[in-house]
Amino acid sequence: MIIDGMADRPMKELEGKTPLEVAETPNMDRMAKIGINGIMDPIQPGIRAGSDTSHLSILGYDPYQVYTGRGPFEAAGVGVEVHPGDIAFRCNFSTANDKGIITDRRAGRIREGTKEIAQAINGLHLEYGVQVIFKESTGHRAVLVLRGGNLSDQVSDADPKYEGNPPKQVVAIDGSEDANKTAKLLNELIQKSYKILKDHPVNLERIKKGENPANIILPRGAGAVPEVQPFQEKYGLRSACIAETGLIKGIGNITGMDLIDVDGATGGVDTDLDSITTSIVSTAAQDYDFLLINIDGADEAGHDGNLEEKVDFIKRVDSVVGKVMELDNAVFILTADHSTPVAIMDHTGDPVPLAIKGPAVRVDDVNSFSERAAANGGMCRIRGSDVMNMVMDLTNRSTKFGA
Ligand code: ZN
Ligand code: ZN
Repeated sequence: MIIDGMADRPMKELEGKTPLEVAETPNMDRMAKIGINGIMDPIQPGIRAGSDTSHLSILGYDPYQVYTGRGPFEAAGVGVEVHPGDIAFRCNFSTANDKGIITDRRAGRIREGTKEIAQAINGLHLEYGVQVIFKESTGHRAVLVLRGGNLSDQVSDADPKYEGNPPKQVVAIDGSEDANKTAKLLNELIQKSYKILKDHPVNLERIKKGENPANIILPRGAGAVPEVQPFQEKYGLRSACIAETGLIKGIGNITGMDLIDVDGATGGVDTDLDSITTSIVSTAAQDYDFLLINIDGADEAGHDGNLEEKVDFIKRVDSVVGKVMELDNAVFILTADHSTPVAIMDHTGDPVPLAIKGPAVRVDDVNSFSERAAANGGMCRIRGSDVMNMVMDLTNRSTKFGA
């Protein structure tokens, strides 16, 4: 169970304590008490992990091998069946005027009608036998997958980042022929999207209502879909993923886990924690060997620089931890995927606390769950890539190295 971005740094406002140390977390503390504790560098000491690269590392995949960019995981997270070699992008639906200038990067924060708009782009065929797969995500977000034609992910972003500019010309980063071809196709597709979408019924309706139309797509974050050994094949574990955000669902999907839909999961501090708990308990009752659980609110509060909300969310997520602790006969690992310090409003490379409870663990003397307390535990300091080895060993599933 990964409480996204929960770890933090000592804060002046908290008299040198961290939000996790200040929040009331009786269940996490009990977890520390009856388990073994340590601190974990998700990737390596000092490396600022993304949520995606950290999760890959914790699941035993080398992110330096399999991570090519955010696009493939976002695409897999919204349910696109991606294939190795596909080039995937994150996209914004944006608003362009008739001179090709982006006037709103988020198309009036469009919420409805994106499915219909996406269908107008999905299925297009481009030069070199390239097929376009395009799907809406949440709000103004979407994913684009280009399949076929020996394309490359070494291309720049089209998003100009600031309104008042035209889409950025996509260029080949490495100057290769495949990347040049990909850049050319993308530039054409962006222009084509405006032609297709400017008079789309959903947009005509939006204009009538005084809302910005979603009349152009802006791809970014290109990544080639990697070859990833399925989790079940790697470990022999039937697994499911209970996550809120497209990115983590994408990790689950690409590694071949079953994705469990959770009603009311928003990925924010307003998420429905009761509903998440219900999903965990009912999924655990099914025939799975391994559950990956990610709850995102603490990370959001950290990115927002909102100390009060972070402390409050950690306090509330503690009850979910309590329910998971009741699951019989399970090895339960509680950790975070990285620190998202309120003061920094982004991820940092600090290690995160980790506690494991289960029938075989050597219980240590740590009595509370926090960044500082965990450093005194029996696991000392580990890396994300150690976690699955320990899971396999603690459940007597690992194979012996040597005679
Ligand atoms: Zn994260
Ligand atoms: Zn984050």
